[in-house]
Amino acid sequence: MEKQSRNIPLPFQQGQGGSSVREDFPILEKHIYEKYPLVYLDNAATTQKPRSVVDAMTDEYYNVNANVHRGVHFLSQQATELHEASRETVRKFLNARSTREIVFTRGTTESINLVASCYGEAFMHEGDEVILSEMEHHSNIVSWQLLQARKGIRLRVIPITDEGELRLDEYEKLFSDRTRIVSLTHVSNVLGTVNPMKEIIRIAHEHDVPVLVDGAQSTPHFAVDVQDLDCDFFAFSGHKIYGPTGIGVLYGKEAWLDKIPPYMGGGEMIQNVSFEKTTFNELPYKFEAGTPDYVATTGLAKALDYVSSIGMDNIEKHEQDLTQYAIHRLSEIDGMHVFGPKKNRDAVISFLVRQPGIPETDTSFEHFIHHLDMGTLLDRLGIAVRTGHHCAEPLMHRLGIEGTVRISFALYNTREEVDRLVSAIERVKQMF
Ligand code: PMP
Repeated sequence: MEKQSRNIPLPFQQGQGGSSVREDFPILEKHIYEKYPLVYLDNAATTQKPRSVVDAMTDEYYNVNANVHRGVHFLSQQATELHEASRETVRKFLNARSTREIVFTRGTTESINLVASCYGEAFMHEGDEVILSEMEHHSNIVSWQLLQARKGIRLRVIPITDEGELRLDEYEKLFSDRTRIVSLTHVSNVLGTVNPMKEIIRIAHEHDVPVLVDGAQSTPHFAVDVQDLDCDFFAFSGHKIYGPTGIGVLYGKEAWLDKIPPYMGGGEMIQNVSFEKTTFNELPYKFEAGTPDYVATTGLAKALDYVSSIGMDNIEKHEQDLTQYAIHRLSEIDGMHVFGPKKNRDAVISFLVRQPGIPETDTSFEHFIHHLDMGTLLDRLGIAVRTGHHCAEPLMHRLGIEGTVRISFALYNTREEVDRLVSAIERVKQMF
């Protein structure tokens, strides 16, 4: 990945000269209920957008807008150039070999559905197996269940430890002569667990099985190199990495993308069409039916430029510092239960807090403040968190809970915001 530094200090460097990255995100100036400065800790759901992303998209709509690929006229060619330059930006960001391996989709969900549907169509038959895990997001469960309903495939599930780590010993045992693909999340969107993906992929390849990585929660937080990982497919969403909504990426090794059939039919994805026979376009267009969201691809590229200019390593360092600080501060709260592993964890923290007056010996989550109550009351104090099952109901069942309160960090969050969260949790506790 190309690393240029533009010398904009992260929030922790505030006061050391220069402006803070926070100034790039106008929404962070907001006061909630016209009273409390916003503390935005729902970044795993979606991140806020820097000015450069929104400005580039506005500029394209005002000054360039025209449909891509098919036009001979000036604007269409300019729009096409921008769109294809964005593909190159994504290629560099993931360190893919070629732009032929970069398919634009609407997001992680669509990317996973594409693989389940198209790889499943070509390579999976009744009784064949996909290996998933207990910590998957619904998008990486239900997509395979749809294939299960169509073709009678089987889902094999890697269990997790009580701490929330994958049981690699059990993973190895799940391989059989019917295993056709492994599809796993890089980082848990609930527990923050960072899975040892290189090792997981190495093991799968020893069994000649390809791997799809759900990178929705890894790409925003640390550098990803698909060649180094050696994954076969990799999915991520633009809106979780400071880009616009409605745009995402599926990376696929060219050899696989060549072998699997198209996802949707329509314009762009064809070479020639007749009622007798249709031939398909070359990669990656074979998977991009219809008018692409070419303005969103510009926004995505700007977002990737933005994080690259700060440096993914700097972002990782800052967010790791914040996560460790938050775990430390949260653990000072009486009755606090933080889920997830102690090490190898990312900028996502799920927790529940025991109701005051309930003895510590009572470990039943029934006597914890309901996640929805906690989230609603924190909101009244200007703190945006997420509550519920986080689209991971099987994981909730495994943990024996209905839901959690989840905070998740981005590059613009600060220790002061963590302090405000901790004070607010103490205030909420007093209301019970
Ligand atoms: N996988 C994981 C791990 C996620 O966190 C999410 C979003 N919460 C998704 C998949 C789905 O992403 P999207 O809604 O952007 O398609």
